[in-house]
Amino acid sequence: MTNLVNQEIDTRNLPDDNGYFGEYGGSFVPPELQEVMEEVAAKYAEISQDPTFIEELADLHEHYTGRPSPIFHARNLSRAVGGAQIYLKREDLNHTGAHKINHCLGEVLLARRMGKRKVIAETGAGQHGVALATAAALMGLECDIYMGEVDVMKEAPNVSRMKILGARVIAVKSGTRTLKDAVDEAFKAYLRDPVNQIYCIGSVVGPHPFPMMVRDFQAVIGVEARKQMMHMTGRLPDNVVACVGGGSNAMGIFSAFLDDSSVRLYGVEPAGMGLETGNHAASITCGKPGILHGFRTLLIQNEKGEPLPVYSIASGLDYPGVGPQHCHLHDIKRVQYTTITDREAVEAFYALSRMEGIIPALESSHAVAYAAKLAEGLDRDETVLVNLSGRGDKDIDFVMQNYPLADYEPGAESGNSYKDFLSRIQSRR
Ligand SMILES: *Cc1c(COP(=O)(O)O)cnc(C)c1O
Repeated sequence: MTNLVNQEIDTRNLPDDNGYFGEYGGSFVPPELQEVMEEVAAKYAEISQDPTFIEELADLHEHYTGRPSPIFHARNLSRAVGGAQIYLKREDLNHTGAHKINHCLGEVLLARRMGKRKVIAETGAGQHGVALATAAALMGLECDIYMGEVDVMKEAPNVSRMKILGARVIAVKSGTRTLKDAVDEAFKAYLRDPVNQIYCIGSVVGPHPFPMMVRDFQAVIGVEARKQMMHMTGRLPDNVVACVGGGSNAMGIFSAFLDDSSVRLYGVEPAGMGLETGNHAASITCGKPGILHGFRTLLIQNEKGEPLPVYSIASGLDYPGVGPQHCHLHDIKRVQYTTITDREAVEAFYALSRMEGIIPALESSHAVAYAAKLAEGLDRDETVLVNLSGRGDKDIDFVMQNYPLADYEPGAESGNSYKDFLSRIQSRR
C-alpha cells in the first residue's frame, strides 16, 4: 500500500490486510477491542486519503512543531572520527523536544475526526505523555496518561508538565510499576470505554493498525531527510542510523529509503550493561517470537512466553518487544540491527555535547555512538545520516549524578572521556 499521508513513499505493500509484516504484527486482542481496532483502521484508511486531513497535519507540522527539522553536517565529530561525514536529522528541535509530537498530532487529529472526547496513552519516562498532552491541549481533548508509579517518582518534571498541560496522570501500581504495566493498564481502561476514548499508542507497536499508522505519521522524517540530503550533498546518504526502542523514529526515517538498495540502514538497540549480563533491552538481537500487547513481535521472554524485565539507561528504549516491521526488516536483512551499551551511549552524549554544542537524548546517543563507530571505517566522501530523535534536557540531572563529568573530561583517568571514546573507535582500524 502506498503511504497515504506521505504520498511519495512506497512501503512495499506492508502490512497486509490483516496487519502482518511477514510473520509479525497482526491483532491479538479480545473481540470487543477487535471491533474497535477495525473501526480505527477504517477511519484511518479514510482520512489518510482526505486532502483536508493531510493539509491540516502539514500545517501543524510547519507552524506548530517547526518542521521541516534541519539537517546539520556534524563536521567536528566527523573530523575527530576521521572517516565518513556524519549528518544529523534534528528531531531534537521539534516542539516538545523529540520526534513523538509527529505521531501525537496525527493521532489526536484522528481522534477528533472520530468524535472522541478523550485520548489515553501509556508513558515510560513521560516523553510520549508530554507530547500527547500537548497535542490534546491544542485540540481541546481530555487526556489520561497511565504511568508506572516508579516512573512517576523518577520523572517528576514530566509529570508536572503533563499536569500543567491539563492531562490526568494515573500512577500504575501493578507489576514492576513501570512501562509494561502502564501499557497493560491503558489497554484495560480502553476496554472500559472504547466509545468515548481512543488509545494513542507511543510507538510502532500494539495491534493493527497502530504500527502502520504511527509509521505513516513518522514517515515525514524520512521524506524530508531524503530531499534535504539530495539538496545538501547531491545524492542519497550511503548509511542511515537510528536508535530502536519500539522503533518509531527508526521506521520514520527508514521508510523513505527502503527501496533504495544503495542506502544501508542500521537500527541500534540498547545493550544496557552488556548483552552478556542479561541487563539490556535488545529485543531483535536477543528476543524470540512471541506475543505482547496485542501483536506478534521478537520478545525478550522466559520459557513460558512471559516478557522478562528489561533494562536500558535510556527509558525510551526500555521495552521487551519491538515494532513488527522491524522484525520483518531484520528477517529479510534489509536493515542491520546492532547494539550500543549504556557506557558507549554516555560517551557519545558527552562527545556530541562538547564537539557540536548539541546535547542529545540518551536514546539518540545510542545512534550517535554507532554512527561514529561506523563512520570510522568508511571513506571521507561517504555519508552517515543519524536520526537525532530528541534532545537531552530530560537527561542532564541523571547523567551528572551517575556519570560524573570529571570522568568524561579529556584526559580523565577513568578511561571514559570522549577523547578515549574516539581513540577507542580509532584503535579498531
Ligand atoms: C521515545 C523515544 C525514543 C524511542 O522510541 P522509538 O519508538 O523507538 O522511536 C527514542 N528517542 C527519543 C528521544 C524518545 O523520546
